[in-house]
Amino acid sequence: ALEAAGNQQKDSVKVAVNIRPLITEELRDGCTDCVTVTPGEPQVQIGPHVFTFDHVYGSTGPSSSLIFEQCVHPLIDSLFNGYNATVLAYGQTGSGKTYTMGTDYTGESNCGGIIPQVMETIFRKLVATNDGTEFLIRIFKEEVFDLLDANNGVPRPDLGCVAKSSVPARVPIQIRETANGGITLAGVTETEVKSKEEMASCLARGSSSRATASTNMNRQSSRSHAIFTICIEQKRTSSSDYDVLSSKFHLVDLAGSERAKRTGADGLRLKEGIHINKGLLALGNVISALGDEKKRKEGAFVPYRDSKLTRLLQDSLGGNSKTVMIACISPADSNAEETINTLKYANRAR
Ligand code: ADP
Ligand code: MG
Repeated sequence: ALEAAGNQQKDSVKVAVNIRPLITEELRDGCTDCVTVTPGEPQVQIGPHVFTFDHVYGSTGPSSSLIFEQCVHPLIDSLFNGYNATVLAYGQTGSGKTYTMGTDYTGESNCGGIIPQVMETIFRKLVATNDGTEFLIRIFKEEVFDLLDANNGVPRPDLGCVAKSSVPARVPIQIRETANGGITLAGVTETEVKSKEEMASCLARGSSSRATASTNMNRQSSRSHAIFTICIEQKRTSSSDYDVLSSKFHLVDLAGSERAKRTGADGLRLKEGIHINKGLLALGNVISALGDEKKRKEGAFVPYRDSKLTRLLQDSLGGNSKTVMIACISPADSNAEETINTLKYANRAR
C-alpha cells in the first residue's frame, strides 16, 4: 500500500520544459541557439549538461495546445472530481512564463495560452447547476495583495500604510488555515462568474492592475507571483442537499527566477529580489520533498510554512492534488547560465 501511495504521490508532480524560440532582440544581438532536444526523448542538452523531464516542448512549431492537452487537461478532469490542482510557470524574466500561461489574456490576444484554454474547457464542462467562483491574487515581497479589489493601489493612510512617492500602499491579505487543513485568504475578492466572458473580464481586470503596479513600481511584475485561482463548487443533486464538492485550480505565473544580483541596481530592489527568491526557494524545497519517495516514506517534513507562496498553495500541492511545473527557457546562448539554473531547479522537482 505504501508503494502504491508513493507512486500516486510521485505521479502528482509533473515537470515540463517549454523552450521558446529566439526572439527579435536575441536575433538582432546575434545570439545563437544553445539548447538541444534529444530526438524522441523528453530530454534537453545544454553544453555538457543533460536533463530529462516528463515532457519537453517548443523545439519545433507551436507547442501551447500540446502543453494544454498533455499537462493541463488531465488536471481539469481531476478538478471536476473534487481534487485541487496547480500549474506553475517558472523561469527567468523573458523566458516566456506569461506567454505560456496566457496571464496577459484580455479576451483577444494570446488565445493560445494555458489560462484561456482552461477557461474555455471549464465552461464547456460546467453544467447549469454548477457554480464557479474565482479570485485573482498576487504576492509581492512575500505579502499577498488582491488584484480584484477596486481599492487596491489606493493609499490607505487610515490603515497605517504610508504611500511613498508614487508607490501605492496596499493592504495585505491574511492567509488562514482552517481546522481541516484547507487554506483560505481572509478578505480576498471572489467574483461569481457565469460565463467564460465574465471570467475573462476578471482576469483582464487583475492583469491590468498588475501592469499598472509594474509601471509604478519599476518592473515589479517580474518580481512578484501572479496567481489566478478558479474555485469550482459542484452541488451534487443525486445525494443530500448539503453535498457540495469544492475544488480549486491555481494558475501561477511565478516571479522571475534570475538571481538578485542580475536584478542589480539599488539596495531596495536587491532586498525585494531576495524576498522573492525566498518564495521560489521554499517552493523548490516543497516540491522536491513531495517528489522524493525515500524521504516521504521516512515521513519527511514538507516545509510549506517557509514562505507565503507555499502556505497559500499548501492544500493544492501534494496529497491528492495534482501539480504541473512548466520550466520556461530561452534557447539563447546569452541566457545559458540562467537556463542551466532553471533546468537544475526543475530537475530537483522531479
Ligand atoms: P516572462 O513572462 O517569463 O517574463 P514573456 O512571456 O513576457 O516572458 O515572454 C518574453 C517575450 O518572448 C515576449 O515578447 C513574448 O511574446 C515572447 N515569447 C515567449 N514565448 C514565446 C513563444 N513560445 N513563441 C513566440 N514568442 C514567445
Ligand atoms: Mg511575465
